[in-house]
Amino acid sequence: MGELIIAGGFILTSNPKRPLVKEGYVVIEDDVITNVAAEPRDLPSGADRLDARGCVITPGFINTHTHAAMTLLRNYANDVSLKDWLERYIWPVEACLKKEHVFVGAKLACIEGALCGVTTMHSMYIHEEAEIQAAIEAKVRMIASPGIFSWIRDSAIRESRQLVNQYHDSANGRIRISLAPHAPYTVDPETFYQIRDLSDQFRGKTKTPVFWHIHLAETKDEMDKVKDAAKRWKKQGIEVPSRALQSDGPIEYLDALGILVPEGEEKSDVMGAHVVHPTARELELIQKRDIRVSHNPVSNLKLASGIAPTIEYIRRGITVGLGTDGPTLTPMDLLRTAELAALLAKGVNLDPTLLPAGDAFAMLTRWGAKAVFWDGDIGMVKEGMKADLVVIDFKKPHLVPMFDPLAHLIYSARGTDVRDVIVDGEIIVRNRSFLPFSVEDTMEEVNRVISELITSIEDEKT
Ligand SMILES: [Zn+2]
Repeated sequence: MGELIIAGGFILTSNPKRPLVKEGYVVIEDDVITNVAAEPRDLPSGADRLDARGCVITPGFINTHTHAAMTLLRNYANDVSLKDWLERYIWPVEACLKKEHVFVGAKLACIEGALCGVTTMHSMYIHEEAEIQAAIEAKVRMIASPGIFSWIRDSAIRESRQLVNQYHDSANGRIRISLAPHAPYTVDPETFYQIRDLSDQFRGKTKTPVFWHIHLAETKDEMDKVKDAAKRWKKQGIEVPSRALQSDGPIEYLDALGILVPEGEEKSDVMGAHVVHPTARELELIQKRDIRVSHNPVSNLKLASGIAPTIEYIRRGITVGLGTDGPTLTPMDLLRTAELAALLAKGVNLDPTLLPAGDAFAMLTRWGAKAVFWDGDIGMVKEGMKADLVVIDFKKPHLVPMFDPLAHLIYSARGTDVRDVIVDGEIIVRNRSFLPFSVEDTMEEVNRVISELITSIEDEKT
């Protein structure tokens, strides 16, 4: 690693105390930002130097909800309901996925994300160790979440425990693990209690928190899905407390089960993905329990799940970050997601002053960091923070002239304008080239494994 200077760009720091540094310098020593200044004194000699004149420098973008290896099924099924999408198309293929498939799919996601400025991914999937290996090779940050469903409870909980023991805070702290019950309707109460026990066992014993990652209130009928599932669970001898079943929504339901907060705590350690349809009582609950929200507007529109009440979240001080959801549905271009988040909030509320560019940028960066319990280390360009940075080339026809770099970033720039990316002090994308491993080979490998897999599935059907 050593020393690196990024010189001469507009720095959008995402630090509310000092949001913009014009023609500034960022000095990095090893994995940490040591100086952010307009004209720094004592620039280290012999440091690697990135000339950022005409560019905008930002913190790395944080994708708070994805399923990285789903690159393998990019646009495999479209224009269908979430239920059909999962049950008819996605789950049958996923049932045949092996570690080597997940590894190569996650490698592609890391490349795609990095080329769009995504330096941290929160990814829930199966064969999660393979995603971790991909993230380590790609030198990005990942919070890996082995998905837990009732029907694989024992193996999934075992896998979660083992991955926390082996990988949490590993790779110079770039890898973390979260516990990931898939959703309220795919995880029975017994499994939820076991996951809560597991996270309570880790509490205070790991350097950084092992929090929860769950799909929550994604569709309007989610509580009906829970009630349907409860009938099946009952046949298996698993009772759902009747008070919980009487809830109006899934967040209230989980609260009634008593699993939204660690033992003896007031505040939650849960990040909910989507949270499109909270009831009025659930909004109060999210605020009171400090449940973090990952907003996934592209996925929510594509699956017609609805539009999350982001303005209400922001007004109440609820932490909201941005997610792309699985790349089978949407690209990893988080800048596009940020723009859509802003436009949707304005459009549905008939008020163009809502969700200004500054809020969309906060969702991409510091609020995203907070949503995944990683604030303090990432999400700002600030002395003492980890050196995760993006250099975006603004010498482009669609970015000239520039009155307001922040508005340009959110409303005009695209992931393809990202020129250089630094994670943990190391340049992983330079001049739009991804450096850690071959992009060509990875794309070829993805095409090979997925065509083999689909052929074998089709053969089985006939
Ligand atoms: Zn998802």
